[in-house]
Amino acid sequence: MDKPRSLRVEAVALRHSDFGEADRIITLYTREQGKMRAVAKGVRKIASRKAGHLEPFTRVKLQLARGRDMFIVTQAETVDAYPSLREDLSLTGYAAYVLELLDRFVPDEESASSSLYRLLTETLSHLATESNPWLTLRSYEIRLLDLLGFRPQLQDCANCGNEIQAEDQFFSAALGGAVCPRCGQGLPGLWPISVDALKYLRHFQRSDYRSAMRARPDAETQKEIETVMQGYFQFLLERELNTPGFIKRIKEA
Ligand SMILES: [Zn+2]
Repeated sequence: MDKPRSLRVEAVALRHSDFGEADRIITLYTREQGKMRAVAKGVRKIASRKAGHLEPFTRVKLQLARGRDMFIVTQAETVDAYPSLREDLSLTGYAAYVLELLDRFVPDEESASSSLYRLLTETLSHLATESNPWLTLRSYEIRLLDLLGFRPQLQDCANCGNEIQAEDQFFSAALGGAVCPRCGQGLPGLWPISVDALKYLRHFQRSDYRSAMRARPDAETQKEIETVMQGYFQFLLERELNTPGFIKRIKEA
């Protein structure tokens, strides 16, 4: 079967890089094709009408034509520009984190996932409209891990399989879940995790978005959850993410 000469897709622009004199290569997460790249010609010229539609975070409808090496954007129409994500620097940082996680986890040739696309667009719109970005981000992380096949095991010890009791535990990125205090004694590379932090992670894992939003962990538990999740991501991706450092600098400024 011949490859299609043109495509219509709905997408979120993940990032872009300059290409030649006036062009840009846009990395997209599309509903129809998964992750792909396309050239936007002339967008760096001041008068370009396509430019604004292709900024990161923007949700767009695109017409793409097959070029020699890559698809070329021939038409772009914004579905949602999420303006509040651009106006507030903290929200910009959070949205950039959402995109970075997806971008780093999803390889270029992975087939499309409408669930991932929905999670991405819903998360951006929750960040843009709701008042508790911390909960939105944690719920996104847990759901993303589910969809990617990295759901952490939080009910039974990831080492011996015994049911996790209501007491402080450990977390192992390598084993992908909670480790009971007994197994934790002899294993390297574990983080301690309090019974409270574990309780909230389980809550995010089993609840829909609305119920997840009702969680109220205290500041210390929040920090603990972030540390464990960042450690898990770093282990899975085999390197550090860029955006958490950016978010930290915004908070400190
Ligand atoms: Zn165990």
